Amino acid sequence: MTAAYDIENFHTALVEHGLIVPTGVQGAYGRGAAFEDIVRGFNGIIDRIAQADGAQEVMFPPIVARALVEKMGYMDSFPQLAGSVHSFTGDDAQARELSERVHAGDRWEDMLSPTRVMLAPAACYPVYPAFSGLLPGDGRLITVMNWVFRHEPSDEPTRLQSFRMRELVRMGKPEDVLAWRDDWLCRGLELLRGLGLHAQSDVAADPFFGRAGKMLAANQVEQRLKFEILVPVISLEKPTAVCSFNWHQDHFSAKFGIRDADGATAHTACLGFGLERVALALVKAHGFDSQAWPQEVRTQLWP
Ligand code: AMP
Ligand code: ZN
Repeated sequence: MTAAYDIENFHTALVEHGLIVPTGVQGAYGRGAAFEDIVRGFNGIIDRIAQADGAQEVMFPPIVARALVEKMGYMDSFPQLAGSVHSFTGDDAQARELSERVHAGDRWEDMLSPTRVMLAPAACYPVYPAFSGLLPGDGRLITVMNWVFRHEPSDEPTRLQSFRMRELVRMGKPEDVLAWRDDWLCRGLELLRGLGLHAQSDVAADPFFGRAGKMLAANQVEQRLKFEILVPVISLEKPTAVCSFNWHQDHFSAKFGIRDADGATAHTACLGFGLERVALALVKAHGFDSQAWPQEVRTQLWP
């Protein structure tokens, strides 16, 4: 039933089975109850692993300080993906003009001013400034889940503008952080294969903007800073990244003064599961009716 890889038919079937609900906005469909059940089930697996590993859970809102986005270097590397929050700060006369323009069908956005916040581009961004200073001897493990925004409108059900990222962030001594990343590459593959997914890992690069970005991406691959776990969802030849592993070295820790117990600049790494992509990969592998999925998959998701 789900053997063929065809974006349009996959999308249609997802809608017919009530898994997704079109909204007319690309990459911003609604999620039906059955879809949310899958997301919750997988997120629950990560909850249990994170708890067993002693991770500290923190929840942040889906907006971050504009200054944080600037400091993380996001506007240098990914301006094409950023989402900025603007609001109206004018007077009565301007408010009337704004309203008139809206109802006349004229453009009105130039009457808005940027606020001090932007939409979160990754779930882990607020973590780094929150842990400035000295880390405990064995570092820290943090887990976060958040809605993130990326301006990449698309008809592919796996490429969203607003989606959930479940992350684990490790901060500590360089060797501990690298060992954690390497260990998780295996654990991530085992976890996804254990759910019946044809998961493979590969080195990867971020979609850095422009010509200079090509150099940055090549450097990232050469240094093996980013890995992805890929699963065929909408294409067999171009499998979809469902999980990413980023080793930042001292890139973020230096900016925010995160130091290991000896006072040296710490290293950080994060891994992020795209929850909608995992859910869609499971649907692709096991069918549109999650009630009919193999029992060994169901018991892991819904113990
Ligand atoms: P990244 O920070 O780009 O490595 O993304 C982390 C994870 O989020 C990826 O491994 C994907 O699973 C997921 N992801 C990234 N971009 C999108 C998108 N546009 N739509 C849905 N999921 C995404
Ligand atoms: Zn991250």
